[in-house]
Amino acid sequence: MAQVVQVNAYADLETRWKALRRRGDAAVREVACAGAPRTLLCAEIGEAHLPAIAFASGVHGDEPAAPWALLQLVEDRELDSRYSYRIWPCTNPSGYALGTRESIDGIDVNRSFGRGGQTPEARAIVMANRNRKFAISFDLHEDVDAAGFYCYEYGTPQLGHAMVDAVREAGFRVQDLGQCDLGAPFTAAQLDDGVVRPSPASEIDAIGGLSYNLSLARHAAQCALTLETPARLPWDDRLSIHRIAVKAAIAAFAKQKNHG
Ligand SMILES: [Zn+2]
Repeated sequence: MAQVVQVNAYADLETRWKALRRRGDAAVREVACAGAPRTLLCAEIGEAHLPAIAFASGVHGDEPAAPWALLQLVEDRELDSRYSYRIWPCTNPSGYALGTRESIDGIDVNRSFGRGGQTPEARAIVMANRNRKFAISFDLHEDVDAAGFYCYEYGTPQLGHAMVDAVREAGFRVQDLGQCDLGAPFTAAQLDDGVVRPSPASEIDAIGGLSYNLSLARHAAQCALTLETPARLPWDDRLSIHRIAVKAAIAAFAKQKNHG
């Protein structure tokens, strides 16, 4: 299928997030990102005493549906109001603007979260997130090779299957993990019906650096989920899958914690 070129500019994303300031329940600010051409957006939603959930997207600039799905989840008030949210709407703005996986410096930002951050973007995020603890961390991605949805999961409670089940129930395909290149070796035991459970100890060596979500899973998040939607699907389907999966994971978490 021919890839539809998206014309959703970074400026449009920024404008839409800043417009949420008028809503009253969302604080949207720009975080200085020394050494990078753009600031980073950071949004806070919900009351500070509530359990916190972290969101990030756009660390790979050529995976555009992820930031737009995250925006829609907030704009359409689809996030469970029993939790508070710290949101990084796009963690690699220069890559997004260029449509490249890497930042304008040619670096994969999602390998740079070790040692306090090794890129301007990672340093700014690590610094701003210090002292914060999260019940769940979501990082939204896309995969150009995948035919169906899949996710990576770190920590507990395990919520990946709730996402996979919900995506499948909605009529979307779940990736056969034996049929795609995950960029790192995994044992059969680590691959379970659309859910990859990496070994944190070996992941850093395998991919060549510390990812955003693994850095949170090590220190600040009980459970970290990295979502992958197939970039070959129609735009609206990619947004829908992200939204369905995120809502299913939060609902499963609330049920396990008897919040609901
Ligand atoms: Zn990615």
